[in-house]
Amino acid sequence: MHKVYKADFHVHTCLSPCGDLSMVPSRIVLEAKARELDIIGICDHNSSENIEAVQKAGEKQGLLVVGGMEVTSREEAHILALFDDLTVTGEMQDIISGNLSGENDENAFGEQVIVDAGDSVTGINPALLIGATDLSIEEIVGIIHRLGGLAIASHVDREMFSVTSQLGFIPDSIGFDALELSPSYLRRRSSPGQEKMDFGYTGYPLVSFSDAHYPEDIGKSYSLFEMKDKVFEEIRKALCGIDERAVKI
Ligand SMILES: [Zn+2]
Ligand SMILES: [Zn+2]
Repeated sequence: MHKVYKADFHVHTCLSPCGDLSMVPSRIVLEAKARELDIIGICDHNSSENIEAVQKAGEKQGLLVVGGMEVTSREEAHILALFDDLTVTGEMQDIISGNLSGENDENAFGEQVIVDAGDSVTGINPALLIGATDLSIEEIVGIIHRLGGLAIASHVDREMFSVTSQLGFIPDSIGFDALELSPSYLRRRSSPGQEKMDFGYTGYPLVSFSDAHYPEDIGKSYSLFEMKDKVFEEIRKALCGIDERAVKI
């Protein structure tokens, strides 16, 4: 028998230059619980340093926090990378950092604050996290899969920073695990099911998450995962539809 889990895998923290400084672990967990989310994903731009802090804050509240990041490809397309454990996320971070150049300009892009589980500031990331890596979309998806993670094309309905906007279409050869639709797409779709007409040609599973940069946006859009348990491997199986597991938006 499957249970239904409410999940928002695309949440930024105060580490993202565009993320509000109020996006600290305790606030993120508080808002996620208030919206009855069972699972969230922390996906800062090209960086993973705040994942563990949110995971620790979430543990106390029974909230599963999946670690990830939102990687920018050299084509300037955003890709969500989700991983089961912090060691692997660290490996991904090393690869991304080795392919990202430039320094952040706080005045132009915003602060990049690293915090602990108690919301205390422990450092500032100096890298240009808002920048693009030297890696292609295909290379990024290949690396994510080699490390055992899930690769989801971010906000494919958007006219900027999406695989659709940068390539003009979504190639079926890339092997995404899912495509993400943004909250604004769900609001303006003409009827439930419109997404199948717009993106069904790709054959990829469709999900929707909030892409929250502010506390009030957490859970604004979510997906329902029908699966056996609240663990990473079940998320993968639900995206594949194995044994009647399913994902609904
Ligand atoms: Zn994005
Ligand atoms: Zn994002």
